[in-house]
Amino acid sequence: MFPVIAIDGPAASGKSTVAQKIAAHLGITFVSSGELYRAVTWAALKADILPENGEKLDAFLRSAQISTQKLGDKVIFLIHGEGATQHLYDLEVNKNVSLFSQLPKFRAVLLEALRDLGNRFSLIMEGRDIGSVVFPATPYKFYLDASEKERERRRAAQGIADTITDRDQLDSTRKVAPLKIPPGACTLNTTEMSLDEVVRKVLEELKNKHFVIQHFTA
Ligand code: C5P
Repeated sequence: MFPVIAIDGPAASGKSTVAQKIAAHLGITFVSSGELYRAVTWAALKADILPENGEKLDAFLRSAQISTQKLGDKVIFLIHGEGATQHLYDLEVNKNVSLFSQLPKFRAVLLEALRDLGNRFSLIMEGRDIGSVVFPATPYKFYLDASEKERERRRAAQGIADTITDRDQLDSTRKVAPLKIPPGACTLNTTEMSLDEVVRKVLEELKNKHFVIQHFTA
């Protein structure tokens, strides 16, 4: 098991940008777990399956083949050998991803794929339940937040039409692995902070916690 830095927080709180910067700085692997949730959502929708289609969804999940590829320092996910990068932020994916993500059977399949990455790389992984459920034993946990207004502004600046309020509501109230501050996490409200300030804070905290990188040498 390699060291894992876990970053959680609501939609558009800056997790992904911060995590990518830290990955580049430390020379470790970056994983957006939301991209896996989105990729599987896209593959299900493509197969004409909706969150409420019980049996069809069960069969889809039973046979779902999730694989990964390393693109620079980033992991991308393939479903049945097919990448979904172009479709991750499609409107239909945005609308359905949190509905699929509420389902325990859906999460169970993805959880396994995410945990497996911890056996292969030194990681920084961002999402909703990374510090609480995926890697609860890691001492390197962060929770980033920002005001709703600021998060909406950041999403709009990316040119992405998103439903962040609806997703946050579903993500924080679901029964399994809801979005919450993991015990022991360093919390940062980034509303009034620049990206560089947030990155600096995270690096400072990692240094205080004596974060050490291990690379795969076999
Ligand atoms: O991170 P991103 O906003 O792209 O995630 C898309 C959706 O995937 C979230 O709104 C949430 O429903 C789901 N998700 C999750 N658990 C994670 C990461 C994402 O439920 N660890």
